[in-house]
Amino acid sequence: MSAAGAHEARATEWYCEAYGPEPAEIGALCFRSGELGKRVCNDQDECHRVMAAERRRVFRRISERAASGDQAMVFLEGEFSSPEQLLGGGQDQEADG
Ligand SMILES: [Zn+2]
Repeated sequence: MSAAGAHEARATEWYCEAYGPEPAEIGALCFRSGELGKRVCNDQDECHRVMAAERRRVFRRISERAASGDQAMVFLEGEFSSPEQLLGGGQDQEADG
């Protein structure tokens, strides 16, 4: 059968990388906006760029805090080995078991 319309991602409708589809259902559309139902990014490309930068920032923050002895951050540093694992960047990674 035909895949009517092929369901292309529309320019104004995408899931924020930090959240994904499920939070979007309750209105968590954009990590940057911090408000339900509100989007700050103009397009998916912008969302992607912003989130990539945000992941690096958070990742660096974790490293810095871990280095200063923050145990929670030491834990997180052990959990995340690259920025891509943060904030929805590694959605296709699966936890063991
Ligand atoms: Zn966004």
